[in-house]
Amino acid sequence: MKDINRRDFLKTAAIGVSMSVFGTKFLKASDESPSGYRIGILVDTDVCVGCRHCEWACKVAHNIPTASLESYSDNSLFKEYRRLDAASLTVVNEFENEKNPSLPVYVKKQCMHCEKPACVSACIVGALSKLEDGSVVWDTKKCIGCRYCMVACQFQIPTFDYDKPIDPQIRKCDLCYDRRKTEKLPACVSICPTEALLFGERDEILRVAKNRIKRKPDVYINHIYGEQEIGGTTWMYIASKSFDNLKMPPLGNSPAPGTSESIQHGIFAYFVPPVTLYAILGTIMWLTKRRSNENKENRIEFEQEKKGVDT
Ligand code: SF4
Ligand code: SF4
Ligand code: SF4
Repeated sequence: MKDINRRDFLKTAAIGVSMSVFGTKFLKASDESPSGYRIGILVDTDVCVGCRHCEWACKVAHNIPTASLESYSDNSLFKEYRRLDAASLTVVNEFENEKNPSLPVYVKKQCMHCEKPACVSACIVGALSKLEDGSVVWDTKKCIGCRYCMVACQFQIPTFDYDKPIDPQIRKCDLCYDRRKTEKLPACVSICPTEALLFGERDEILRVAKNRIKRKPDVYINHIYGEQEIGGTTWMYIASKSFDNLKMPPLGNSPAPGTSESIQHGIFAYFVPPVTLYAILGTIMWLTKRRSNENKENRIEFEQEKKGVDT
């Protein structure tokens, strides 16, 4: 484990856990990891203080413009429930704490990195991929802006960069792919001052979560959100109140890709077969994107030539 300080070390659930991206092999949404190694991150909502440092660190790590960290102490924005957007890959919301009204419950939201990601199944051009370690990443170069992933995701996570309709960008948490390549913890885990976020191997993280619930049955409800939901997720949560009341969707244990497929097949049952429709739409969007990229390249060439003449 290189380049890891003591604070970060405490935020990993298992000694020797690898922070690096485990292989770069892309799997199908339904594939099991051949190595069996899966990342897990625990969000302990009882420990989170709602400082939103994770939001700030996430933006910095992804080169998203942001205000100073000091300005994040403004709690007035908790008045309204906030959703993710193209410039916010993670957000923290505040919920009432009936047991102790002076201590609200804070819940950080981001892509859950599902074991069986519906977004990967839905993407017709392979712009979203599942890696061996369970993380789900995206490639903006391949994305054609069809937004099927947004429809398929049961957590309503992928967002669309509406400012760029010609060269669209789907955005979501990538589990800090670039940081993990250099053996660094995800930015949000690294900055969290209360260790409300714990990173490690999924089985180890589950063990820690179960222990905390067992040790404090008066604090936590007996439910680890993400352990089983839609086949399990990388991010998992423990809390003092029902997850329905924390705006976490009540989902069954069956993986979502099958569900999303049947939704698509249901929608198109009486129209053009989905594969044909996908092919037509995909071709149109791919051509549009290619033309836009060619225009961009021509522009750059033109500017360079112009510079050459000017100098
Ligand atoms: S939460 Fe949504 S976007 Fe994230 S991996 Fe699961 S299906 Fe995909
Ligand atoms: S893991 Fe990285 S991308 Fe995901 S919410 Fe945390 S900082 Fe953002
Ligand atoms: S940085 Fe940690 S304590 Fe602060 S809001 Fe995020 S998860 Fe909660």
